[in-house]
Amino acid sequence: MRLDRLLCQHPKWNRRHVLGLLVQGRVTVNEVVVTNPTHEVSAFDTVHADGELCQAGKPAHYLMLNKPAGILSATSDPVHPTVMQLLPEALAKDLHIGGRLDRASTGLMLLTNDGQWSRRATDPDKRSPKVYRVTLANPIHPDTEQVFAEGIYFPFEAITTSPAQLERLGECECRLTIYEGRYHQIKRMFGRFRNPVVALHRESMGAITLDPTLAPGQYRALTAEEIASV
Ligand code: URA
Repeated sequence: MRLDRLLCQHPKWNRRHVLGLLVQGRVTVNEVVVTNPTHEVSAFDTVHADGELCQAGKPAHYLMLNKPAGILSATSDPVHPTVMQLLPEALAKDLHIGGRLDRASTGLMLLTNDGQWSRRATDPDKRSPKVYRVTLANPIHPDTEQVFAEGIYFPFEAITTSPAQLERLGECECRLTIYEGRYHQIKRMFGRFRNPVVALHRESMGAITLDPTLAPGQYRALTAEEIASV
């Protein structure tokens, strides 16, 4: 919301007062003076005007979690356990997922209560790389690198996937970098070669890499640098 609009909600001030306070440098956002009426404030910002608290910013949470297989990446589900059940209830109630994984998939999940941040983290236009370790049922077909690099047409969405890079790690194992997060994307990409995915582990999203000290089911807060990388 715009700063001037937030301040105008205060019963004591009308628009003229608000503009006066701003011009006189009597408004702070997170303890920094702001004079621009159109400055955007979020629910996480603390705003003071004329020494009065106008909005106490709520704490923002940014977590990474090592998702175990068999757990749903959803906020709630009537049948299956969800990643939220791996977190303390008081923390989980506010959080949402930034970038889902299939139930059988494992590895890096981002959780936050900051909707703008998670939208940036998963925005397909940003072409942010997502790196997966993939184990396949059958040997990787020799044409796979080229076909993935050219992009695969998905008729259901009428899109062609962005060029993806495949690094072979073994006959049936590879590291794959993709730049979107379409429904079952990697399974469908290997589906082109009729090669079922038997294990899928997300190692990184953009500049955020799964912390190797996190056992499946464990989580930690993101560092300031990790948060700022999104
Ligand atoms: N692609 C898939 O097919 N599944 C995932 O969980 C993630 C990417």
